[in-house]
Amino acid sequence: MISLVAFGTWMVMMKPDNMAILYALFFAAIVYGILFTIPIGGADMPVVISLLNSFTGLAAAFGGFLYDNKIMLTGGILVGSAGTLLTLVMCKAMNRPLSNVIFGAFGASGATGDREMSGNIKDINVSDTAVLMNYSKKVIIVPGYGLAVAQAQHVIHELEMILEERGVSVKYAIHPVAGRMPGHMNVLLAESNVSYDKLVEMEDINPEFASTDVVLVVGANDVINPAAHNDPASPIYGMPILDVENAAHIIVNKRSMNAGYAGIENELFFNPKTNMLFGDAKTVPTKLVAELKAL
Ligand code: NDP
Repeated sequence: MISLVAFGTWMVMMKPDNMAILYALFFAAIVYGILFTIPIGGADMPVVISLLNSFTGLAAAFGGFLYDNKIMLTGGILVGSAGTLLTLVMCKAMNRPLSNVIFGAFGASGATGDREMSGNIKDINVSDTAVLMNYSKKVIIVPGYGLAVAQAQHVIHELEMILEERGVSVKYAIHPVAGRMPGHMNVLLAESNVSYDKLVEMEDINPEFASTDVVLVVGANDVINPAAHNDPASPIYGMPILDVENAAHIIVNKRSMNAGYAGIENELFFNPKTNMLFGDAKTVPTKLVAELKAL
């Protein structure tokens, strides 16, 4: 980057005629662009895409100045500011500075946040889950990245409708960085026609967990990890999370005990109130729907 800035400064000052020098700068910029993005972890890509998007806007805006073109200038400013704002909002929701997203992978500071977990893992089967949910008054569904991977939005909506028919109140708790891009869960659930007023943002749903009978977590992990509140060594320490541990029963549907994006264990899974419902986020809710219909 330093070489590129120096090269560019030299070109502006010396105004060389040789086009080959301009092409060399162009080539060096491409190489730098590739080297800039390679080390960034796959899941941070949405932030980087948004950042690069804002750069294209800024470049267009500068082009507008150069060519005295107001349309280019206005378009560039719009794209540049929207991209910058989106980047900052994503970083804020992850409680990580932009520099950490770009220059450091999670835990690069040496803090792994991998604490010894105490307690037992309890699992639950589909029919017990169906009975528990059927006789609840209030259920909150927490969707996460696994739901998106399994494309389980339609079956989850079906589950919601069956429960509602049985008089159970169902809401979705939407964490701002659940999934892998801002608004991921909203878009996914809107695709299956979930009513928009059932999608409740984190700040609004958090006080409701205490009065909730069952929380069904579908393919989410980091966004419900209490380490964000109580483990200063954790890489996600300080990130706002969904306070699902306040609910009476917590059922977590995921395939294994594998970590989520942050790569750390989740002590919520060892909570006496938690039951693990192992399996794919589409297969398990499909079975759950069948069990509920049979009840
Ligand atoms: P996580 O990545 O923390 O966890 C997802 C979980 O889903 C995994 O533990 C995995 O467990 C499970 N899973 C994966 N596939 C399936 C499947 N087919 N069926 C069932 N479960 C599955 O997701 P969250 O949504 O909780 O958190 C998002 C993370 O992504 C946060 O750390 C956030 O900071 C980060 N991020 C979000 C961005 C955004 O804008 N939304 C942008 C960049 C990063 P298992 O393998 O055991 O099934």
